[in-house]
Amino acid sequence: MAFSRILGKVGRQLYRPWASCQAPLRPTSSHTIAVEQSAPAGTGFPPLQTFTEEEAMMRDAVRKYAQERVAPLVSEMDENSSMADEVIKSLFELGLMGIEISTEYGGTGSSFFSSVLVIEELAKVDPSVAVLCDIQNTLINTLMSNLGTEEQKAKYLPRLATDMIGSFCLSEAGSGSDAFAMKTKAEKHKDYYIINGSKMWISSAEHAGVFLVLANADVSAGYRGITCFIVDRDTEGLEIGKKENKLGLRASSTCAVNFDNVKVHEKNILGKVGQGYKYAIGMLNGGRIGIAAQMLGLAQGCFDHAVPYTRQRMQFGKRIFDFQGLQHQIAYVATQLEAARLLTYNAARLKEAGRPFVKEACMSKYFAAEVATLTTSKCIEWMGGVGFTKDYPIEKYYRDCKIGTIYEGTSNIQLSTVAKLLDQEYNS
Ligand SMILES: Cc1cc2nc3c(=O)[nH]c(=O)nc-3n(C[C@H](O)[C@H](O)[C@H](O)COP(=O)(O)OP(=O)(O)OC[C@H]3O[C@@H](n4cnc5c(N)ncnc54)[C@H](O)[C@@H]3O)c2cc1C
Repeated sequence: MAFSRILGKVGRQLYRPWASCQAPLRPTSSHTIAVEQSAPAGTGFPPLQTFTEEEAMMRDAVRKYAQERVAPLVSEMDENSSMADEVIKSLFELGLMGIEISTEYGGTGSSFFSSVLVIEELAKVDPSVAVLCDIQNTLINTLMSNLGTEEQKAKYLPRLATDMIGSFCLSEAGSGSDAFAMKTKAEKHKDYYIINGSKMWISSAEHAGVFLVLANADVSAGYRGITCFIVDRDTEGLEIGKKENKLGLRASSTCAVNFDNVKVHEKNILGKVGQGYKYAIGMLNGGRIGIAAQMLGLAQGCFDHAVPYTRQRMQFGKRIFDFQGLQHQIAYVATQLEAARLLTYNAARLKEAGRPFVKEACMSKYFAAEVATLTTSKCIEWMGGVGFTKDYPIEKYYRDCKIGTIYEGTSNIQLSTVAKLLDQEYNS
């Protein structure tokens, strides 16, 4: 079976809980129902939180992997702002960096929905590890699989599935939300291009072996000149610039990437010249569901640490969980989490079914980021003073969640897209 690598390796590990504060494995809660259930005949459709056997097994295996092998390293990675080599290595070993890459190219050969579940599970333990896995699967591998020539796929997909990280280079200092106002240019000479410019905020750049770079190959055509180039790390003139010192997501590297007369052969164009803007929009639409899953996992992971604390902590002779003031807040946050999960899963299922999903993807990312912000803030309050310290992981979730409202389109940009699509719906 395609994911046997994942199950086999995880199964051999011993349970090593995160010493400072352990979120128990919670296999029986409502959001973790893990069976293939088809609706009884004649009773309609199965509930949205219904998984195929493969999806459920993959999710459970990744949950176990994250608890046993990632959790013990999270605090140190955050403190040092660095991703542990053993985490990167194990993600590749378990097939989690090539989830949708076909088995023909050495990938896991699984589905987009499985990627969403994997990202959610990783984010429960460390959102930095989740974003490494998310960008590789939802942006880099998808672009390469969908647009690559046979030669490009044969060269890159087996590496992306087994040992090579990819980075997606769109943003620049002057072009964030207005991404297509980019200044990076690709000038054509005979059968090659010369790229000049600087990209900013590039996730995973510290470890990446390949960069998918959006550059304008025909400035006179405006955004219709934007083209996607595959650029190897060791190409002359490519330099990894300053690594950002960030509020959260500290183990995920975020760097500038500079291009100084970088020569790229035209056979390294991904897709067609001048279509890069379409590819970027298309990929980010799907990618947003991945970020929604990251925010959802983050919020759930935080909640799963805080609620057990409220059930143990005694004040005024009672568990603090027993005060109605806390119960209503906890129930409210649990409801928001459930709603975020349904939005995210529904957007993912729509995408997989080949149906329109852009509005739902934007809604899921926007909403999951809001829920993550609410959840992490409330969890700190529920835990009182200790929630404010680094002895517990709550403050880290609180720092990590902020990025959900910024990257792969800010919350305003998600809402603008939703509004634009609503406007179109009411036109017709
Ligand atoms: C940790 C991190 C990792 C990242 N990883 C990557 C990566 O791997 N690859 C990559 O290419 N980029 C990456 N980015 C960049 C990210 O996508 C941008 O930061 C994001 O698109 C916002 O752009 P900006 O920072 O320039 O903000 P701006 O676009 O300047 O936005 C600032 C504010 O203005 C608002 N605003 C802007 N335009 C509008 C509008 N039309 N209507 C309403 N409000 C508006 C925004 O909502 C926001 O609140 C990353 C960023 C961070 C912080």
